[in-house]
Amino acid sequence: MTQHATLPPLRGRIQAQAPLAPSTWFRVGGPAEWLVRPADLDDLLLLLRDLPGTVPLTVIGAASNLILRDGGVRGVVLRLAGRAFGAIERDGEAIIAGAAALDATVAEHAAAAGLAGLEFLCGIPGTIGGAVAMNAGAYGAEIKDVLEWAEVATPGGLVRLSAAEFGFAYRKAVLPARGVVVRASLRGTPGESAAIAARMAEIRASREATQPVRARTGGSTFKNPPGAKAWQLVDAAGCRGLVRGGAQVSELHANFLLNTGGATAADLEGLGEAVRARVKSATGVELEWEIKRIGEAAA
Ligand SMILES: Cc1cc2nc3c(=O)[nH]c(=O)nc-3n(C[C@H](O)[C@H](O)[C@H](O)COP(=O)(O)OP(=O)(O)OC[C@H]3O[C@@H](n4cnc5c(N)ncnc54)[C@H](O)[C@@H]3O)c2cc1C
Repeated sequence: MTQHATLPPLRGRIQAQAPLAPSTWFRVGGPAEWLVRPADLDDLLLLLRDLPGTVPLTVIGAASNLILRDGGVRGVVLRLAGRAFGAIERDGEAIIAGAAALDATVAEHAAAAGLAGLEFLCGIPGTIGGAVAMNAGAYGAEIKDVLEWAEVATPGGLVRLSAAEFGFAYRKAVLPARGVVVRASLRGTPGESAAIAARMAEIRASREATQPVRARTGGSTFKNPPGAKAWQLVDAAGCRGLVRGGAQVSELHANFLLNTGGATAADLEGLGEAVRARVKSATGVELEWEIKRIGEAAA
């Protein structure tokens, strides 16, 4: 594939065979065939409209919930960045945030604006685009509880969808085909900035104590099955601390995988599959991956 034959003429950045691993939380994985950073919304809409449907399109945010496979990703990997996609503004009792804005930054803005209800975002290390796409949540709240609307760029143009139209479920949203979240309006309720900041400090302290938040990780590896906690099942199957190559099940939180240094994506995914198999045989429960695995295995 050559750029001119396949990609529409964009004003943004296009990089061939772009290394992605350094900008993922796990620090593993191969390159993007094409990494595209559109200059602004018009650029993104042009790309979506004119990119042939046969070229795979993958969107990544902060890559905090991803295992990027060692063979890299075919086609276009889209990353939204910069002011065109990262602006945050207050609109009455809502915060309108671009998809590239970090969840934690949005939580800080809400606190400064005296808007409560978005504190849960302060400890989630992704972007607003990823939060909508994953229905991210923590400490009893999820995106679906606070989302008023989100705008999604599609091959047919820009659409504004209400929360009900995303079909939100636990760590799941349904997006239009080749849809890219570009902006979201999150509802707060008036509150005391000091009390909101105190709640955020509590959340951060609790995370520091219970999760390997500074490690090369991908957050919760498996979804909690109905009525159970994934970490308890992983523990019950004797997998806490289990190692494969440079990958390890966290000793601190058994539902987190770690790259302890030299892990490959295959180590991490293989370890996750080994854990699933052990949990299945020890407890009968089939764990479902929460972490998305994208791209191709190494040749
Ligand atoms: C230490 C740690 C703690 C975590 N704690 C939590 C937690 O408490 N709660 C929680 O829910 N998650 C948690 N996570 C997981 C992760 O941070 C969230 O799922 C987050 O919402 C992912 O956002 P992202 O921008 O990193 O998305 P990515 O990981 O880059 O992508 C995740 C998915 O979203 C899609 N996506 C990303 N951006 C867009 C977009 N603009 N438009 C359409 N689709 C898009 C991707 O295609 C992919 O399918 C944690 C992760 C880590 C590393």
